[in-house]
Amino acid sequence: MCIFCKIVNAEIPNKTILEDENFLAFYDINPARKIHALIIPKEHYDSFDVIPPKIMAGMTEFIQKVASKLEVKKSGYRLITNIGDDGGQEVRHLHFHLMGGEPVGKLVR
Ligand code: AMP
Repeated sequence: MCIFCKIVNAEIPNKTILEDENFLAFYDINPARKIHALIIPKEHYDSFDVIPPKIMAGMTEFIQKVASKLEVKKSGYRLITNIGDDGGQEVRHLHFHLMGGEPVGKLVR
């Protein structure tokens, strides 16, 4: 079982931000910005590349609720998901990183 499935199953603790029947948002253990949340579907999908669009629609709504709860809607935030080797994905369970609480900077090479 992958590490995020273990979090869903409460085998590994997490700092939950928001949860519903299908999705979970919790704080990243190694935050890269003042606010750094991870948002996952409870069901295992390896990455964004394979998530059914219908489930992604629900996830979009959930992510917007997380942004409200974290009070970053007005100030803005960055939402990213890493996919596969070149994408730098370490945990192979789809997750979005929501980062904010400060200017997160530009995407530059
Ligand atoms: P990625 O490189 O996109 O796969 O990101 C994986 C993220 O998961 C990293 O930012 C890690 O800090 C984070 N992470 C790994 N294990 C945990 C954990 N047990 N609780 C919270 N965040 C975690």
